[in-house]
Amino acid sequence: MKKQKYACPSATNSEGASLFGIVGNDGLVKFLPHTVALDQELISLGNSHSNPEAKFRYTQTCAEKGCKQWTGEKCGVIDKVYGMKLEAIDHRGLKCPIMNDCRWYAQEGPKACGVCPLVVADLI
Ligand code: SF4
Repeated sequence: MKKQKYACPSATNSEGASLFGIVGNDGLVKFLPHTVALDQELISLGNSHSNPEAKFRYTQTCAEKGCKQWTGEKCGVIDKVYGMKLEAIDHRGLKCPIMNDCRWYAQEGPKACGVCPLVVADLI
């Protein structure tokens, strides 16, 4: 059986990534109805912000062993997020375009979605 490829929910503004959320004025990530593959124009738009990962959420195929956040068996980022002791939001009814493939969701289930919209990648 082919191993499932998971999607990293905190990727950077880079080639091969897709946009899937935008940080709203209230500081919470608003998820798009579907992912949008980055082209040069979108990458430049992201880079017009001094820190694109503080304004946008990007996804990319989880690199597992190829990522410094990989602990050997899972992504360590979500544990760091829990460690920030953020007050989880009510995520019932939350729609996220990468839920079926999300690495954090696969590891933690819906609990991850309670803190995920509070995350901007540059915090981690
Ligand atoms: S943790 Fe939940 S809300 Fe965040 S990217 Fe994964 S599925 Fe989406």
